[in-house]
Amino acid sequence: MPLAAQFTTVPVVVDDEKCIAEKGCRVCIDVCPLDILRINEETEKAYMAYDECWYCMPCESDCPTGAVKVNLPYLLK
Ligand code: SF4
Ligand code: SF4
Repeated sequence: MPLAAQFTTVPVVVDDEKCIAEKGCRVCIDVCPLDILRINEETEKAYMAYDECWYCMPCESDCPTGAVKVNLPYLLK
């Protein structure tokens, strides 16, 4: 199988155990310049709705609970 076919996840992952969106937090959604983070209405947690990330990082650095992980592509590291 070609390697590219294995990339099925989006680059920004939210740890549902840490995310406190159900308590009203919207920090990552508010700081994202591309407006691609959303609240999952079923889980009440934040998630990446569109894979158009700029890897600018405020969602990860500003999240009060450290729930956001931005997985940088290899070429940007
Ligand atoms: S900033 Fe962190 S805690 Fe707040 S909604 Fe986003 S992922 Fe959840
Ligand atoms: S790294 Fe930037 S563009 Fe990507 S989700 Fe976070 S705030 Fe949005």
